[in-house]
Amino acid sequence: APPGRAVPELLIVGGIHGDERPSVDMPLRLLHYLVEMRHSSSSEALAVQTLLQNCVLWILPVLNPDGMVSGSRYNSNGLDGDLNRNFPDGVLLEQAGDSLGTFQNADSLRLAELQQEQIVVMRWLAARKITAALHLHTGAELICFPYGNCSGSVYSPELARAPHEAAFLDLGQAYADANPRISTVCNAASWVKVVGELADWQYRYLGTLPLTVELVGPAYNKEPLYCTMSSIWQENRPAFLAWMERVSERYPQGLPAPETRPDPVYSAEFRSTREQYLPGFPQPLILQCAEFSSAPPEALILTLTLPEGWQASIDPAATLPALATRLESASEFSFLFLSESGDWGDRSLSISATPPEDISAEAILSGTLQWLNGSSTVAPQHWLPLPERDFDLTLQTGWNLLALPLTPKHSTPWPNNPLFTWAGSKFQTATWPRQSVAFWTWQEQASELNLSGWHRDDGDPPPHPGWQLGGSTWPQTLTNIYRTGADGVVQKVPVAVIAPPEAVWLFRPETE
Ligand SMILES: [Zn+2]
Repeated sequence: APPGRAVPELLIVGGIHGDERPSVDMPLRLLHYLVEMRHSSSSEALAVQTLLQNCVLWILPVLNPDGMVSGSRYNSNGLDGDLNRNFPDGVLLEQAGDSLGTFQNADSLRLAELQQEQIVVMRWLAARKITAALHLHTGAELICFPYGNCSGSVYSPELARAPHEAAFLDLGQAYADANPRISTVCNAASWVKVVGELADWQYRYLGTLPLTVELVGPAYNKEPLYCTMSSIWQENRPAFLAWMERVSERYPQGLPAPETRPDPVYSAEFRSTREQYLPGFPQPLILQCAEFSSAPPEALILTLTLPEGWQASIDPAATLPALATRLESASEFSFLFLSESGDWGDRSLSISATPPEDISAEAILSGTLQWLNGSSTVAPQHWLPLPERDFDLTLQTGWNLLALPLTPKHSTPWPNNPLFTWAGSKFQTATWPRQSVAFWTWQEQASELNLSGWHRDDGDPPPHPGWQLGGSTWPQTLTNIYRTGADGVVQKVPVAVIAPPEAVWLFRPETE
């Protein structure tokens, strides 16, 4: 979809169980097909291109690579490693009044005792706003939807019914109508009650609408002969497209914002629940006040309870910086916000928070908001760190022009030389490299560094107009770049693939 336009994000995930290989083959064939359609001008291709202009499609062909290699349902940890069990599905929560799409329950991201693949996929999903998903399996021929688990020892239609049942039926029917093999669309627990499915977690806590598609069955036929794969693909190709189209029609701008509860006079919640934090670096922590339901307050006191090892301070760059801060206990920080004019701007309260580099403890944040004669509770927020990555870097003797695909940890060795970054019209100095920010540095002697750091994968911001010094987190084709050749002379190159750690000069006109 064109950048900046609000469209639904869709996800297709296969290979959750390693012995259900058609669920891996179908997403790969879909990728191949979409690429072919991208380069064709048939009427079919034009329809597919229009579809892709109106959504973002994520394809995760195999969630359980170990299992696929060994032909097992489980990952290499054996019977504990069923990746579609053991997710915190939240079945013990009260159903009524528990709003979807927010991490307000501190248990929603419990990561203890989960398999590594589950933790990775939860972190990845939590950082995005995915509207609808297909979870592909085999062993039956049907489509089911949350909830797969319900309190009580047996299935109960009342307890397993999801508030979005009508939407699930509609999206599931769109798939089934286009697939000659599948006719049943049903609640998952009514088929088989299961504890800890990815679909339940993704629905209850992220608000995503996931369908479980059982592509081919019955249970003894999870992996039919490979020669039948083409006909299974012919059955599912129109169904994938019909589902994508139906999601885009129903939710042309993606998921609606979660419903809010009736508020006290003044209330606030943590903003940017889907962004991840950068361990070891100060960054803004923003709380958004709801619309004031009476006259604006004269002052608000925000008391935050932060996890062990976190520090908080006034954010001088905020639009409305706190006037004062006070340490209440080792983990409690209070901030006084005052608006003399009564103008609270967009009602955001911003402070600066520095999480520790050690991410072993779970980051659950909570707080209270106080005003004259009243207070309200800030719903707990479970915040996730950015994923860790490694990168091997060679520094040359002399000047180096670099852009890293990660922000190195403070504990990672880094030469103590100043960095020169480009600020649009002049160079400025920096002390520590940041992901995707290009810099020059002078080295007395060459060295090899094994960097360990934090990696943001939500893409780099578009370049500002004018002369820019840019790099790329991923190998990327860029046009009209200026690169230093082996002879030390800067040359204009019409088209080049830029991969980290290379940085190049670019000129971007005022208007594209
Ligand atoms: Zn399965």
